[in-house]
Amino acid sequence: SKPIVAIVGRPNVGKSTLFNALAGEMISIVKDTPGVTRDRIYADVSWLDRDFTIIDTGGIEPDSQDIILSQMREQAQIAIDSADVIIFITDVRQGLTDADSQVADMLRKSRRPVVLAVNKVDNYKSQQMDVYEFYNLGIGEPFPISAEGKQGIGDLLDAVVSHF
Ligand code: GDP
Ligand code: MG
Repeated sequence: SKPIVAIVGRPNVGKSTLFNALAGEMISIVKDTPGVTRDRIYADVSWLDRDFTIIDTGGIEPDSQDIILSQMREQAQIAIDSADVIIFITDVRQGLTDADSQVADMLRKSRRPVVLAVNKVDNYKSQQMDVYEFYNLGIGEPFPISAEGKQGIGDLLDAVVSHF
């Protein structure tokens, strides 16, 4: 069967936007307020003659800060258990957060292949320095992307399929 690629990250970082960009259609719901992604959305994707299935792990995202972390940990664990490669997505505008660091620790310890995406890099020239901060997560090279502007997606997918 096809490799599974799970998209994991905090609410509002752009998981569903990336998912839709990869799926080529609007399957997952994008909204400013968290809590709207339908539970576990799948789509088939091809990149460089490699076929795989992507999952938007967003699920029913919490809108209360105190349960965001526990739910992220739960989603990360599902991804660790079921995915061949994990795309961990962060938000350059929010910068590195404690929740990002804690989930990165889980992913690193799982020894699953992780590709780190730094989203909302709509203007690489002015945001380049902010992307470097994400090296501190200790899960490798941060790939700057703009899920909305569909930029940086090719390099990200090259990294993903290199793990199959
Ligand atoms: P999710 O909660 O992680 O699934 O995040 P969503 O995909 O629902 O996106 C949350 C918000 O971020 C929405 O308002 C999106 O339009 C916005 N967003 C997503 N990707 C980008 C991007 O590349 N650049 C900018 N500026 N905004 C983005
Ligand atoms: Mg979502």
